[in-house]
Amino acid sequence: MYQHLDVQGQPLPYAVGKVVCVGRSYRDHAAELNNPVPEQPLLFIKPSTSLASLDVPLLLPKGQGAVHHELEVALLIGRRLCHTEPGHALEAIAGVGLALDLTLRDVQEQLKANGHPWERAKAFDGSCPISPFALPEVLNDLQHLDFALQVNGATRQSGNTAMMMWSIGELLAQMSCCFTLNPGDVVLTGTPKGVAELKPLDELEMQLDGQYRFSAKVAG
Ligand code: ZN
Repeated sequence: MYQHLDVQGQPLPYAVGKVVCVGRSYRDHAAELNNPVPEQPLLFIKPSTSLASLDVPLLLPKGQGAVHHELEVALLIGRRLCHTEPGHALEAIAGVGLALDLTLRDVQEQLKANGHPWERAKAFDGSCPISPFALPEVLNDLQHLDFALQVNGATRQSGNTAMMMWSIGELLAQMSCCFTLNPGDVVLTGTPKGVAELKPLDELEMQLDGQYRFSAKVAG
């Protein structure tokens, strides 16, 4: 069973909650999929059953077309946020890590074309592989975090949280006006360009803030 861990591998004292995500929060990624840039954050939720440790080989759904990686900075919520002001939202962040917002891209395109919700494409079991969490005070400025993903040694995605269209505080505040964020919930902050397909046995390496490296492997 998945549980939240710190970067030393110790369990963190938070129940595993929902994952609140934002789509198209990096302009370069919206452009690569020919999506318009939204006027307000495009929010969706993955259930707690989407979370999976990077220590276990990533299980991709079979027979449903391409599964894309979307590398995203993940925030562990440590304090309840409900209708919170942007200036206070950052105080609720208990940990910072990296997650993959796995997306069945062909399924999503079909759902979008039919005006249907995206859950089949984005909220399936194991659709949110996630790293351990670093303490926010150990990282450099949260709004200037470098992060990157290599697959089989080749860089696929690299971004910096300075490229986000909404600041982290603004994003958490807006989320908290729709969905109360509870301790143990996770927020994904969107993906920069470079999303692409994962294949069985791919080897993944992720870096955060020049300080942390996380590796993972796709199951065969
Ligand atoms: Zn995403």
